[in-house]
Amino acid sequence: MAAESRLIVVSNRIPTDAQPSGGLVVALHDALKARGGVWIGSSGETSDSPGPLHEIEGVPEYRKLAYDLTEDEHRGFYLGHANSVIWPLFHHRADLIDVDEENRRQYMAVNARVAEMIAKVVEPGDILWVHDYHFLPLGHELRKLGVQNRIGFFLHIPFPNPGDIAALPDQKQLGPWVSSFDLFGLQTQRDVSACLEWLRTATEAEFTLRGRMKLADRFFEVRSFPIGIDVDSFQEAADAADITITDLPVEQKLVLGVDRLDYSKGLPNRFEAFGKYLGLRASDGPRATMLQIAPPSREDVEAYREIRAELESMAGSVNGEHAELDWTPIRYIRRPLPREIVAGLYRRADVMLVTPLADGMNLVAKEFVAAQDGADPGVLILSHFAGAAEQLDGALMVNPYDTSGMARAIDQALAMSLHERHARWLSMMQVIRDTDIEWWTESYLRALRSQPQVQVA
Ligand code: ADP
Repeated sequence: MAAESRLIVVSNRIPTDAQPSGGLVVALHDALKARGGVWIGSSGETSDSPGPLHEIEGVPEYRKLAYDLTEDEHRGFYLGHANSVIWPLFHHRADLIDVDEENRRQYMAVNARVAEMIAKVVEPGDILWVHDYHFLPLGHELRKLGVQNRIGFFLHIPFPNPGDIAALPDQKQLGPWVSSFDLFGLQTQRDVSACLEWLRTATEAEFTLRGRMKLADRFFEVRSFPIGIDVDSFQEAADAADITITDLPVEQKLVLGVDRLDYSKGLPNRFEAFGKYLGLRASDGPRATMLQIAPPSREDVEAYREIRAELESMAGSVNGEHAELDWTPIRYIRRPLPREIVAGLYRRADVMLVTPLADGMNLVAKEFVAAQDGADPGVLILSHFAGAAEQLDGALMVNPYDTSGMARAIDQALAMSLHERHARWLSMMQVIRDTDIEWWTESYLRALRSQPQVQVA
Protein backbone atom coordinates (compact mmCIF):
# COMPACT_ATOMS: atom_id res chain seq x y z
CA MET A 1 0.00 0.00 0.00
CA ALA A 2 1.24 3.49 -0.82
CA ALA A 3 2.35 5.48 2.24
CA GLU A 4 0.11 8.38 1.32
CA SER A 5 -3.12 7.37 -0.38
CA ARG A 6 -4.92 9.66 -2.82
CA LEU A 7 -7.68 11.72 -1.23
CA ILE A 8 -11.11 12.13 -2.80
CA VAL A 9 -13.24 14.81 -1.17
CA VAL A 10 -16.97 14.97 -1.85
CA SER A 11 -18.97 18.03 -0.84
CA ASN A 12 -22.24 19.58 -1.95
CA ARG A 13 -20.66 22.55 -3.73
CA ILE A 14 -17.29 22.63 -5.35
CA PRO A 15 -15.52 25.99 -5.18
CA THR A 16 -15.09 27.38 -8.67
CA ASP A 17 -12.40 29.96 -7.86
CA ALA A 18 -8.76 29.00 -8.22
CA GLN A 19 -8.14 30.59 -4.79
CA PRO A 20 -11.20 29.71 -2.72
CA SER A 21 -12.25 31.55 0.43
CA GLY A 22 -14.23 30.37 3.47
CA GLY A 23 -12.93 28.22 6.32
CA LEU A 24 -13.86 24.71 5.31
CA VAL A 25 -13.27 25.27 1.63
CA VAL A 26 -9.79 26.62 2.28
CA ALA A 27 -8.97 23.70 4.61
CA LEU A 28 -10.01 21.11 2.06
CA HIS A 29 -8.21 23.01 -0.70
CA ASP A 30 -5.02 22.98 1.40
CA ALA A 31 -5.40 19.30 2.27
CA LEU A 32 -5.81 18.40 -1.40
CA LYS A 33 -3.01 20.69 -2.50
CA ALA A 34 -0.62 19.03 -0.10
CA ARG A 35 -1.57 15.45 -0.99
CA GLY A 36 -3.02 15.64 -4.48
CA GLY A 37 -6.33 14.01 -5.22
CA VAL A 38 -9.75 14.91 -6.46
CA TRP A 39 -12.56 17.18 -5.25
CA ILE A 40 -16.02 16.20 -6.43
CA GLY A 41 -19.10 18.37 -6.00
CA SER A 42 -21.94 20.19 -7.69
CA SER A 43 -21.00 22.97 -10.12
CA GLY A 44 -23.86 25.12 -8.82
CA GLU A 45 -25.30 25.11 -12.37
CA THR A 46 -28.52 23.45 -13.38
CA SER A 47 -28.95 21.79 -16.73
CA ASP A 48 -31.76 19.89 -18.52
CA SER A 49 -29.46 17.02 -19.37
CA PRO A 50 -26.59 16.92 -16.89
CA GLY A 51 -23.78 14.90 -18.39
CA PRO A 52 -20.95 13.11 -16.58
CA LEU A 53 -18.41 14.72 -14.26
CA HIS A 54 -16.56 17.56 -15.91
CA GLU A 55 -13.21 19.02 -15.07
CA ILE A 56 -13.07 22.53 -13.57
CA GLU A 57 -9.91 24.54 -13.82
CA GLY A 58 -8.07 25.12 -10.59
CA VAL A 59 -4.56 24.43 -9.39
CA PRO A 60 -2.21 21.79 -10.82
CA GLU A 61 -1.88 19.84 -7.55
CA TYR A 62 -5.36 18.30 -7.58
CA ARG A 63 -8.38 17.84 -9.86
CA LYS A 64 -11.83 19.35 -9.47
CA LEU A 65 -14.64 17.33 -10.97
CA ALA A 66 -18.11 18.85 -11.04
CA TYR A 67 -21.59 17.66 -11.92
CA ASP A 68 -24.70 19.67 -12.75
CA LEU A 69 -28.12 19.08 -11.25
CA THR A 70 -31.41 19.31 -13.09
CA GLU A 71 -33.93 21.89 -11.85
CA ASP A 72 -36.02 19.04 -10.39
CA GLU A 73 -33.01 17.61 -8.60
CA HIS A 74 -32.10 21.00 -7.18
CA ARG A 75 -35.64 21.47 -5.91
CA GLY A 76 -36.16 17.94 -4.59
CA PHE A 77 -32.69 16.95 -3.36
CA TYR A 78 -31.30 20.29 -2.16
CA LEU A 79 -34.18 22.61 -1.24
CA GLY A 80 -36.62 19.81 -0.57
CA HIS A 81 -35.28 16.82 1.29
CA ALA A 82 -31.86 18.11 2.45
CA ASN A 83 -32.99 21.57 3.58
CA SER A 84 -36.65 21.05 4.43
CA VAL A 85 -36.39 17.68 6.21
CA ILE A 86 -32.85 16.82 7.27
CA TRP A 87 -31.68 20.34 8.21
CA PRO A 88 -34.66 21.19 10.47
CA LEU A 89 -34.84 17.71 12.02
CA PHE A 90 -31.12 17.61 12.78
CA HIS A 91 -31.44 21.10 14.32
CA HIS A 92 -34.14 19.75 16.64
CA ARG A 93 -37.00 21.41 14.73
CA ALA A 94 -39.16 18.41 13.85
CA ASP A 95 -42.09 20.89 13.80
CA LEU A 96 -40.67 22.49 10.63
CA ILE A 97 -40.08 19.39 8.54
CA ASP A 98 -41.86 19.14 5.24
CA VAL A 99 -41.81 15.49 4.20
CA ASP A 100 -42.52 14.93 0.53
CA GLU A 101 -42.22 11.62 -1.29
CA GLU A 102 -40.99 13.14 -4.56
CA ASN A 103 -38.30 15.18 -2.77
CA ARG A 104 -37.13 12.10 -0.92
CA ARG A 105 -36.96 10.21 -4.22
CA GLN A 106 -34.79 12.98 -5.70
CA TYR A 107 -32.51 12.91 -2.65
CA MET A 108 -31.94 9.19 -3.13
CA ALA A 109 -31.60 9.54 -6.91
CA VAL A 110 -28.94 12.26 -6.66
CA ASN A 111 -26.99 10.21 -4.12
CA ALA A 112 -27.19 7.16 -6.41
CA ARG A 113 -26.13 9.20 -9.45
CA VAL A 114 -23.23 10.86 -7.64
CA ALA A 115 -22.11 7.44 -6.32
CA GLU A 116 -22.05 6.08 -9.89
CA MET A 117 -19.95 8.99 -11.08
CA ILE A 118 -17.54 8.60 -8.16
CA ALA A 119 -17.24 4.83 -8.64
CA LYS A 120 -15.91 5.51 -12.16
CA VAL A 121 -12.97 7.57 -10.90
CA VAL A 122 -12.03 5.72 -7.68
CA GLU A 123 -8.81 3.76 -7.78
CA PRO A 124 -7.68 1.09 -5.32
CA GLY A 125 -6.01 2.72 -2.31
CA ASP A 126 -7.88 6.04 -2.62
CA ILE A 127 -9.54 7.30 0.53
CA LEU A 128 -12.86 9.11 0.27
CA TRP A 129 -14.04 11.88 2.57
CA VAL A 130 -17.72 12.74 2.21
CA HIS A 131 -19.11 15.94 3.73
CA ASP A 132 -22.41 16.72 5.32
CA TYR A 133 -26.10 16.01 5.38
CA HIS A 134 -26.65 16.13 1.63
CA PHE A 135 -24.81 12.85 1.31
CA LEU A 136 -25.86 10.62 4.21
CA PRO A 137 -26.70 7.69 1.86
CA LEU A 138 -23.60 8.12 -0.33
CA GLY A 139 -21.43 5.53 1.42
CA HIS A 140 -24.19 2.96 1.19
CA GLU A 141 -24.69 3.70 -2.51
CA LEU A 142 -20.94 3.35 -3.11
CA ARG A 143 -20.84 0.02 -1.24
CA LYS A 144 -23.71 -1.24 -3.41
CA LEU A 145 -21.52 -0.50 -6.43
CA GLY A 146 -18.71 -2.58 -4.93
CA VAL A 147 -16.46 0.27 -3.74
CA GLN A 148 -14.33 -1.19 -0.93
CA ASN A 149 -12.07 1.78 -0.24
CA ARG A 150 -12.00 3.52 3.10
CA ILE A 151 -14.87 6.01 3.15
CA GLY A 152 -15.17 8.65 5.86
CA PHE A 153 -18.05 11.00 6.54
CA PHE A 154 -18.22 14.24 8.47
CA LEU A 155 -21.49 15.75 9.63
CA HIS A 156 -21.11 19.51 10.01
CA ILE A 157 -24.51 19.98 11.66
CA PRO A 158 -25.73 18.51 14.97
CA PHE A 159 -26.74 14.86 15.26
CA PRO A 160 -30.51 14.82 15.85
CA ASN A 161 -32.25 13.96 19.09
CA PRO A 162 -32.53 10.15 18.95
CA GLY A 163 -36.32 10.27 19.49
CA ASP A 164 -36.81 12.66 16.54
CA ILE A 165 -35.24 10.25 14.07
CA ALA A 166 -38.55 8.36 13.96
CA ALA A 167 -39.95 11.38 12.06
CA LEU A 168 -37.55 10.74 9.16
CA PRO A 169 -39.24 8.93 6.30
CA ASP A 170 -35.99 6.98 5.85
CA GLN A 171 -35.36 6.22 9.50
CA LYS A 172 -34.87 2.50 8.84
CA GLN A 173 -32.17 3.20 6.28
CA LEU A 174 -30.18 5.53 8.51
CA GLY A 175 -28.43 2.60 10.25
CA PRO A 176 -27.05 1.07 7.04
CA TRP A 177 -26.15 4.54 5.74
CA VAL A 178 -24.08 5.35 8.83
CA SER A 179 -22.43 1.93 9.03
CA SER A 180 -21.40 2.04 5.37
CA PHE A 181 -18.82 4.66 6.31
CA ASP A 182 -15.68 3.49 8.11
CA LEU A 183 -15.52 6.65 10.21
CA PHE A 184 -18.61 8.69 11.07
CA GLY A 185 -17.25 12.06 12.22
CA LEU A 186 -19.29 14.46 14.33
CA GLN A 187 -18.60 17.90 15.78
CA THR A 188 -18.99 17.31 19.52
CA GLN A 189 -19.11 14.74 22.30
CA ARG A 190 -22.78 15.62 22.69
CA ASP A 191 -23.36 14.57 19.07
CA VAL A 192 -21.42 11.34 19.62
CA SER A 193 -23.53 10.54 22.71
CA ALA A 194 -26.75 11.18 20.76
CA CYS A 195 -25.55 9.01 17.88
CA LEU A 196 -24.48 6.14 20.14
CA GLU A 197 -27.75 6.37 22.06
CA TRP A 198 -29.71 6.10 18.80
CA LEU A 199 -27.54 3.19 17.59
CA ARG A 200 -28.07 1.38 20.91
CA THR A 201 -31.81 1.92 21.17
CA ALA A 202 -33.07 2.01 17.60
CA THR A 203 -30.75 -0.26 15.62
CA GLU A 204 -29.16 -3.69 15.98
CA ALA A 205 -25.69 -2.16 16.33
CA GLU A 206 -23.27 -3.83 18.76
CA PHE A 207 -20.42 -2.19 20.63
CA THR A 208 -17.16 -4.05 19.94
CA LEU A 209 -13.60 -3.73 21.19
CA ARG A 210 -11.67 -0.48 20.85
CA GLY A 211 -14.75 1.71 20.54
CA ARG A 212 -15.83 0.36 17.18
CA MET A 213 -19.43 -0.43 16.33
CA LYS A 214 -20.80 -3.31 14.30
CA LEU A 215 -24.05 -3.20 12.38
CA ALA A 216 -25.03 -6.17 10.20
CA ASP A 217 -21.71 -7.15 8.63
CA ARG A 218 -19.96 -3.78 8.89
CA PHE A 219 -17.60 -2.31 11.47
CA PHE A 220 -17.34 1.46 11.85
CA GLU A 221 -16.28 4.13 14.28
CA VAL A 222 -18.20 7.17 15.57
CA ARG A 223 -15.99 9.97 16.86
CA SER A 224 -15.94 13.73 17.35
CA PHE A 225 -13.59 16.13 15.55
CA PRO A 226 -14.56 19.71 16.41
CA ILE A 227 -13.90 21.81 13.33
CA GLY A 228 -11.51 24.75 13.70
CA ILE A 229 -10.52 27.90 11.82
CA ASP A 230 -7.38 29.40 10.34
CA VAL A 231 -6.54 31.52 13.40
CA ASP A 232 -3.70 33.55 11.90
CA SER A 233 -5.63 34.55 8.82
CA PHE A 234 -8.44 36.00 10.95
CA GLN A 235 -5.99 37.79 13.17
CA GLU A 236 -4.24 39.26 10.17
CA ALA A 237 -7.51 40.28 8.53
CA ALA A 238 -8.58 42.02 11.74
CA ASP A 239 -5.19 43.75 12.02
CA ALA A 240 -5.45 44.99 8.45
CA ALA A 241 -9.07 46.13 8.69
CA ASP A 242 -9.70 49.72 9.49
CA ILE A 243 -13.31 49.94 10.48
CA THR A 244 -14.99 53.20 11.24
CA ILE A 245 -18.71 53.25 11.57
CA THR A 246 -19.32 56.88 10.85
CA ASP A 247 -22.14 57.51 13.23
CA LEU A 248 -20.97 55.12 15.93
CA PRO A 249 -18.53 57.10 18.08
CA VAL A 250 -15.54 55.09 19.33
CA GLU A 251 -16.68 55.44 22.92
CA GLN A 252 -20.04 53.88 22.11
CA LYS A 253 -20.33 50.18 22.94
CA LEU A 254 -20.92 47.80 20.05
CA VAL A 255 -22.80 44.52 20.50
CA LEU A 256 -22.39 42.42 17.35
CA GLY A 257 -24.17 39.50 15.71
CA VAL A 258 -22.98 37.88 12.45
CA ASP A 259 -25.06 35.02 11.11
CA ARG A 260 -26.55 33.53 8.02
CA LEU A 261 -30.27 34.25 8.37
CA ASP A 262 -31.55 30.90 9.61
CA TYR A 263 -34.16 29.89 12.19
CA SER A 264 -31.52 27.81 13.99
CA LYS A 265 -29.52 30.93 14.88
CA GLY A 266 -32.00 32.18 17.51
CA LEU A 267 -32.17 35.72 16.14
CA PRO A 268 -35.66 36.65 17.40
CA ASN A 269 -34.65 35.56 20.93
CA ARG A 270 -31.50 37.64 20.60
CA PHE A 271 -33.44 40.75 19.54
CA GLU A 272 -35.87 40.22 22.39
CA ALA A 273 -32.97 39.87 24.85
CA PHE A 274 -31.37 43.06 23.59
CA GLY A 275 -34.72 44.84 23.98
CA LYS A 276 -34.87 43.58 27.59
CA TYR A 277 -31.32 44.73 28.20
CA LEU A 278 -32.29 48.21 26.97
CA GLY A 279 -35.17 48.13 29.43
CA LEU A 280 -32.75 47.23 32.28
CA ARG A 281 -30.24 49.91 31.52
CA ALA A 282 -30.25 53.20 33.45
CA SER A 283 -31.55 55.97 31.20
CA ASP A 284 -28.40 58.03 31.71
CA GLY A 285 -26.09 54.99 31.39
CA PRO A 286 -23.78 54.40 28.43
CA ARG A 287 -25.50 53.55 25.19
CA ALA A 288 -24.87 50.28 23.41
CA THR A 289 -25.78 49.67 19.80
CA MET A 290 -26.45 46.21 18.49
CA LEU A 291 -25.36 45.57 14.92
CA GLN A 292 -26.77 42.42 13.38
CA ILE A 293 -25.46 41.26 10.02
CA ALA A 294 -27.73 38.54 8.66
CA PRO A 295 -27.87 37.96 4.91
CA PRO A 296 -30.82 35.79 3.88
CA SER A 297 -30.16 32.24 2.72
CA ARG A 298 -32.33 29.51 1.12
CA GLU A 299 -35.13 31.96 0.44
CA ASP A 300 -36.96 29.41 -1.69
CA VAL A 301 -37.82 27.59 1.53
CA GLU A 302 -40.90 28.94 3.32
CA ALA A 303 -39.46 28.79 6.87
CA TYR A 304 -36.63 31.11 5.78
CA ARG A 305 -39.02 33.74 4.42
CA GLU A 306 -40.94 33.65 7.69
CA ILE A 307 -37.89 34.21 9.90
CA ARG A 308 -36.88 37.19 7.79
CA ALA A 309 -40.26 38.89 8.17
CA GLU A 310 -40.33 38.15 11.92
CA LEU A 311 -36.91 39.66 12.50
CA GLU A 312 -37.59 42.83 10.56
CA SER A 313 -40.73 43.43 12.55
CA MET A 314 -38.92 42.81 15.85
CA ALA A 315 -36.08 45.22 15.01
CA GLY A 316 -38.71 47.83 14.18
CA SER A 317 -40.57 47.35 17.43
CA VAL A 318 -37.45 47.40 19.68
CA ASN A 319 -36.23 50.54 17.93
CA GLY A 320 -39.69 52.10 18.12
CA GLU A 321 -39.63 51.66 21.88
CA HIS A 322 -36.04 52.65 22.65
CA ALA A 323 -34.62 54.80 19.83
CA GLU A 324 -33.77 58.44 20.40
CA LEU A 325 -33.17 61.24 17.93
CA ASP A 326 -29.44 60.50 17.80
CA TRP A 327 -29.46 56.75 18.53
CA THR A 328 -30.86 53.66 16.81
CA PRO A 329 -30.30 50.73 19.22
CA ILE A 330 -30.63 47.87 16.70
CA ARG A 331 -29.04 48.13 13.29
CA TYR A 332 -29.75 45.33 10.91
CA ILE A 333 -27.78 44.73 7.71
CA ARG A 334 -29.04 42.13 5.30
CA ARG A 335 -26.17 42.30 2.83
CA PRO A 336 -23.33 39.76 3.21
CA LEU A 337 -20.15 41.66 4.03
CA PRO A 338 -16.64 40.82 2.81
CA ARG A 339 -14.56 38.76 5.21
CA GLU A 340 -12.14 41.65 5.86
CA ILE A 341 -14.99 43.88 7.01
CA VAL A 342 -16.41 41.11 9.18
CA ALA A 343 -12.97 40.62 10.77
CA GLY A 344 -12.75 44.37 11.45
CA LEU A 345 -16.21 44.38 13.04
CA TYR A 346 -15.22 41.46 15.29
CA ARG A 347 -12.24 43.52 16.43
CA ARG A 348 -14.37 46.64 17.02
CA ALA A 349 -17.11 44.79 18.95
CA ASP A 350 -17.23 44.98 22.73
CA VAL A 351 -19.62 42.04 22.93
CA MET A 352 -20.31 39.27 20.43
CA LEU A 353 -23.65 37.47 20.54
CA VAL A 354 -23.53 33.89 19.29
CA THR A 355 -26.82 32.55 20.55
CA PRO A 356 -28.12 29.74 18.30
CA LEU A 357 -30.88 27.38 19.40
CA ALA A 358 -28.86 24.61 17.74
CA ASP A 359 -25.59 24.72 15.80
CA GLY A 360 -23.09 22.07 14.73
CA MET A 361 -20.09 24.16 15.77
CA ASN A 362 -20.53 27.87 14.90
CA LEU A 363 -17.36 29.20 13.34
CA VAL A 364 -18.32 32.82 13.98
CA ALA A 365 -17.63 32.27 17.71
CA LYS A 366 -14.09 31.09 16.94
CA GLU A 367 -13.47 33.80 14.36
CA PHE A 368 -14.47 36.47 16.89
CA VAL A 369 -11.95 35.13 19.44
CA ALA A 370 -9.19 34.97 16.80
CA ALA A 371 -9.85 38.55 15.68
CA GLN A 372 -9.46 40.14 19.13
CA ASP A 373 -6.64 42.40 20.03
CA GLY A 374 -5.19 40.67 23.13
CA ALA A 375 -4.62 44.02 24.84
CA ASP A 376 -8.34 44.85 25.02
CA PRO A 377 -10.44 41.84 24.02
CA GLY A 378 -14.22 41.80 23.67
CA VAL A 379 -16.53 39.34 25.43
CA LEU A 380 -18.13 36.34 23.74
CA ILE A 381 -21.68 35.50 24.81
CA LEU A 382 -22.27 31.94 23.69
CA SER A 383 -25.30 29.66 23.65
CA HIS A 384 -24.99 26.27 25.39
CA PHE A 385 -26.46 24.85 22.19
CA ALA A 386 -23.59 25.82 19.87
CA GLY A 387 -21.09 23.01 19.37
CA ALA A 388 -18.40 25.57 20.22
CA ALA A 389 -19.71 25.69 23.82
CA GLU A 390 -18.04 22.33 24.47
CA GLN A 391 -14.66 23.93 23.84
CA LEU A 392 -14.94 27.66 24.63
CA ASP A 393 -15.53 27.71 28.36
CA GLY A 394 -14.07 31.21 28.58
CA ALA A 395 -17.29 32.53 27.03
CA LEU A 396 -20.26 33.84 29.02
CA MET A 397 -22.64 30.93 28.53
CA VAL A 398 -26.33 31.57 28.05
CA ASN A 399 -29.54 29.71 27.46
CA PRO A 400 -31.02 31.35 24.33
CA TYR A 401 -34.57 30.47 25.41
CA ASP A 402 -34.12 32.57 28.56
CA THR A 403 -34.12 36.09 27.14
CA SER A 404 -34.01 37.74 30.58
CA GLY A 405 -30.87 35.72 31.39
CA MET A 406 -29.37 36.83 28.07
CA ALA A 407 -30.22 40.47 28.87
CA ARG A 408 -28.33 40.14 32.18
CA ALA A 409 -25.39 38.52 30.36
CA ILE A 410 -25.20 41.51 27.97
CA ASP A 411 -25.17 43.83 30.97
CA GLN A 412 -22.47 41.73 32.67
CA ALA A 413 -20.36 41.61 29.51
CA LEU A 414 -20.51 45.36 28.98
CA ALA A 415 -19.37 45.95 32.56
CA MET A 416 -16.66 43.25 32.65
CA SER A 417 -13.20 44.27 33.86
CA LEU A 418 -10.26 44.17 31.49
CA HIS A 419 -8.60 41.60 33.77
CA GLU A 420 -11.52 39.16 33.43
CA ARG A 421 -11.97 39.78 29.70
CA HIS A 422 -8.31 39.06 29.16
CA ALA A 423 -8.28 35.84 31.21
CA ARG A 424 -11.36 34.52 29.40
CA TRP A 425 -9.98 35.43 25.98
CA LEU A 426 -6.60 33.78 26.67
CA SER A 427 -8.20 30.47 27.62
CA MET A 428 -10.35 30.49 24.47
CA MET A 429 -7.44 31.46 22.27
CA GLN A 430 -5.46 28.49 23.54
CA VAL A 431 -8.24 26.10 22.53
CA ILE A 432 -8.80 27.56 19.08
CA ARG A 433 -5.07 27.44 18.39
CA ASP A 434 -4.76 23.84 19.62
CA THR A 435 -7.69 22.69 17.48
CA ASP A 436 -7.35 24.85 14.39
CA ILE A 437 -8.44 23.89 10.89
CA GLU A 438 -5.18 22.12 10.11
CA TRP A 439 -5.48 20.04 13.27
CA TRP A 440 -9.03 19.13 12.25
CA THR A 441 -8.12 17.96 8.74
CA GLU A 442 -5.04 16.09 9.92
CA SER A 443 -6.65 14.36 12.87
CA TYR A 444 -9.68 13.29 10.85
CA LEU A 445 -7.61 11.93 7.98
CA ARG A 446 -5.22 10.17 10.35
CA ALA A 447 -8.16 8.45 12.07
CA LEU A 448 -9.68 7.50 8.71
CA ARG A 449 -6.41 6.10 7.40
CA SER A 450 -6.01 4.02 10.54
CA GLN A 451 -9.34 2.22 10.01
CA PRO A 452 -8.58 -1.37 9.00
CA GLN A 453 -9.32 -1.68 5.31
CA VAL A 454 -10.22 -5.32 5.68
CA GLN A 455 -13.40 -5.45 7.70
CA VAL A 456 -12.36 -6.94 11.07
CA ALA A 457 -13.27 -6.00 14.65
P1 ADP B 1 -23.27 28.28 9.17
O1 ADP B 1 -22.32 27.30 8.56
O2 ADP B 1 -24.52 27.66 9.78
O3 ADP B 1 -23.63 29.41 8.27
P2 ADP B 1 -20.98 29.10 10.85
O4 ADP B 1 -20.94 30.17 11.90
O5 ADP B 1 -20.39 27.81 11.28
O6 ADP B 1 -22.51 28.95 10.43
O7 ADP B 1 -20.19 29.57 9.56
C1 ADP B 1 -20.55 30.73 8.91
C2 ADP B 1 -19.40 31.28 8.05
O8 ADP B 1 -19.91 32.27 7.20
C3 ADP B 1 -18.32 31.96 8.90
O9 ADP B 1 -17.07 31.71 8.33
C4 ADP B 1 -18.68 33.44 8.84
O10 ADP B 1 -17.55 34.30 8.85
C5 ADP B 1 -19.39 33.56 7.52
N1 ADP B 1 -20.53 34.47 7.69
C6 ADP B 1 -21.64 34.25 8.42
N2 ADP B 1 -22.47 35.31 8.36
C7 ADP B 1 -21.88 36.22 7.58
C8 ADP B 1 -22.24 37.54 7.15
N3 ADP B 1 -23.36 38.08 7.57
N4 ADP B 1 -21.39 38.18 6.33
C9 ADP B 1 -20.25 37.61 5.95
N5 ADP B 1 -19.84 36.38 6.33
C10 ADP B 1 -20.65 35.69 7.14
